[in-house]
Amino acid sequence: MIGVLDLQGGVVEHIDHLERLGIPGKPVKERDDLKNLAGLIIPGGESTCISRLIHIFGIKDAIIREFKRGMKIWGTCAGAILLAKTVVGESPCLGLIDLDIERNSFGSQLDSFACEAVILPISPDPIPLIFIRAPKILRVGPGVKALFQMDDYIAAAESPEVLATIFHPELTGCVAFHRYFARKCGLDPLDESSIPDVDAAWNNKSWTRLARIARA
Ligand code: GLN
Repeated sequence: MIGVLDLQGGVVEHIDHLERLGIPGKPVKERDDLKNLAGLIIPGGESTCISRLIHIFGIKDAIIREFKRGMKIWGTCAGAILLAKTVVGESPCLGLIDLDIERNSFGSQLDSFACEAVILPISPDPIPLIFIRAPKILRVGPGVKALFQMDDYIAAAESPEVLATIFHPELTGCVAFHRYFARKCGLDPLDESSIPDVDAAWNNKSWTRLARIARA
């Protein structure tokens, strides 16, 4: 079972992607919800807000305890900021992966964008990438691998225990990153022949899908 930290941000889309892969997804709101998880996803949203809620709900120690027990963690966008050891100009929150990250590094919300790229460790097929007021990973430390480098920044990185992406795989029809993370957690997600990475029949209620329908 993989948990999704459910304090603020994009939770249902992650659970939807996990369930399409046959992996049960569990919203995590309090300490006890963290017990016996193979992995935890910290979603995108607003990192200051999620960080304050982590403190208010007193959940930080429990996340770190479960992490030390072996629970893997994936942070998307705001989640990656919360996991970083160094946040430019700010104090780190969880500090569980040795990388430097800079918030809002592309500019304002209007500088959000979408593109596509082949990220070979994840999939041989192009993966759609959505960047929403994203941070940039500026440096990774020893033991942390840059999975995907773009221009002057790193967009995805991982250590043996943590995955960090500055974009939002949960807001596309693609399940490749969720499959990769499930395998990192030692789970056995449905493979490419059972469910394609970009599923034309994807039918959840994500706002990006609704925006596409509205534009069509
Ligand atoms: N700009 C947000 C922050 O700094 C992150 C945005 C996101 O998660 N899409 O927390």
